[in-house]
Formats: sequence, C-alpha cells, structure tokens
Amino acid sequence: MLKIAEIQARSLLNKSKIFDYCLNPFLGCQHACCYCYAGLFMRRYSGHAEPWGKFVDVKINGPELLKRQLSRARRGSIWIASVCDAYQPLEEKYQLTRKCLQEIIPWQFPVFIQTKSDLVVRDLDLLTEFQELEVGFSLATDSDKVAALFEPGAPSITRRIKALEKIKAKSIRTFVFIGPLLPLNPTRLIKLISGLADKVFLDRLNYAEQFLKFYLEHGLEKFYQESYFQNTAQELVALAQAEGIETEKLF
Ligand code: SF4
Repeated sequence: MLKIAEIQARSLLNKSKIFDYCLNPFLGCQHACCYCYAGLFMRRYSGHAEPWGKFVDVKINGPELLKRQLSRARRGSIWIASVCDAYQPLEEKYQLTRKCLQEIIPWQFPVFIQTKSDLVVRDLDLLTEFQELEVGFSLATDSDKVAALFEPGAPSITRRIKALEKIKAKSIRTFVFIGPLLPLNPTRLIKLISGLADKVFLDRLNYAEQFLKFYLEHGLEKFYQESYFQNTAQELVALAQAEGIETEKLF
C-alpha cells in the first residue's frame, strides 16, 4: 500500500555537489530499487516509518515555488532528480516535473534528466525547447528479469530502451548510467544502446554493506565482489568505446 501525501515544500531548486542545482519534485520513490542510496537516508531525514518505495510526498507547490526561485537564482545546471525519480508513476497524475520544465524553459538553465521511466517521452515537446539538455536512462543491467528483482517498481529495460530510441530520434543528447553494476551481459547491454547513447557512466554498488543481505538471500554474492565490479566495468568500457560511445567510470 502506497502512502501519498501532498505537501508544501520550502525549496525546490537546491544546491548540489554534482551539478549546480538538484530538483526533486517528490520525496520518496515508487520505483523502490533495493540498492537505492536515497532510501538509506531519506526515510530518516523525512521521518517516514514506511519502507522505501511505500511512501511519496508530493511537493504540490513545486512549480510555483520554482518559478520564484528561478527569478532569483544564478544561472546553473539542474539535475532532475537526485533523490527520487521525477518520472515515477505519480508524475503521470500530478505533472509536477512537466510543470517545472515549463518554468525552466524561459530561463534556459542547462538541464540533466536521469530516469528509469519511459514517461519522460510524454515531455518531448518541452525537451526539444531546451538549448542545453541531456536525457539519460539508468540501466543497471540488460535483463528485464534482473531489473524486476532489483527495481520492482520501475519500467522494464525493454521499455527504457524504446524510450531512449524516441529521445535520440529528436537529436537530443543522451546518456546511459550503468550503475550499480548488477548481474548483466556486457555485450548485450552495449548492443542495446549502440547508436542511442552518446555517453555511458559506470558506477559500482555504493554503501554495499547495507545491501549484502539482499544479495545473499538471492544467491547473488558473486555479483557483489569488487573483482566483479572492476572486470565488468573494464569490459563495458572497451565495448562502448569500440562503438564510439564516450565513457566515464565513476569509481
Ligand atoms: S529510481 Fe532512483 S531514486 Fe528511485 S528508488 Fe530507484 S535508485 Fe532510488
């Protein structure tokens, strides 16, 4: 059972260490990825007792608040989103991310969207209005079965690839975030994104000790080893570069 609350946020455009700003229209994430680092601290920070993936606070005043913040902010890049997926299922109803993009367009702040959802395709009409924009999908595996186990609330890998194709067809710069490196077939994964992704980012499982129990319960401990992360990343980098895809290893 999902607990939904409509809340009044105090700030939507927040300083970030990775980009100039991050923007999270929701607190909580229905995608419920079992390896989610945001889940580790956002529950504590927000005071929610429900498990990660079972609560979402909807920042109902988000677009209005953003409008005011943008009028005072120094121009900078915006990461959508850092501790939730801005295109999780509730976005279909609330359209907060869509309304935020509409507020950003007149200011033309560079935008970097990272999602696991093909719902982002709904906003193609707005995305093509940005001068500096990148849209990327998190693909921690090539397997729909593995994704369903680790990311139970997120759209399948197949759906994400189809959405990536539609975005690339609009000549938008795209990226794929391969992280955390879940059980995967490197050759198949790179073949799936070849010609669709301009850049690939790679990352290992972070805060790994927090997730060991899950790996053990599913007999997947060999995919939890440092050697697995290093060897798989090395193979993915070589395969991606052979396809002319730019790569950046983050660990
Ligand atoms: S989509 Fe991202 S924010 Fe949402 S649960 Fe998964 S890892 Fe966490």
